[in-house]
Amino acid sequence: MARFRCPTCLGVYIDPQPEGSLYFHVCPPLSLAELVAMPAAAVLALYPSLPPLFTPEQLAAAVGAASVTRAGARNENIVPGYKPPFRDPGDTTPVPPAPAIQDQPPRILLGNV
Ligand SMILES: [Zn+2]
Repeated sequence: MARFRCPTCLGVYIDPQPEGSLYFHVCPPLSLAELVAMPAAAVLALYPSLPPLFTPEQLAAAVGAASVTRAGARNENIVPGYKPPFRDPGDTTPVPPAPAIQDQPPRILLGNV
């Protein structure tokens, strides 16, 4: 098992999981706290209906239940419909990884656990 940090959301995770299953990281949407901490110009680009000098309460009302995908969000889930190439049963070369929906920027290896 190895411990990784996502350079986009700074989430830390273990892959594979302790019970052996693979972990496919997906960045969570921006939280209201993260939106409040962003520069006003960046928030106004996401919510152009806000007044130029908006309050946190107005921002919360604009966000509502809608989620905002963060820039550079990772999604390590396998591309839907991907079919691995045929391999001979005796082929011992390493199996290439399945393509991820979005695996850039690369995750950061923190160490083995
Ligand atoms: Zn992430």
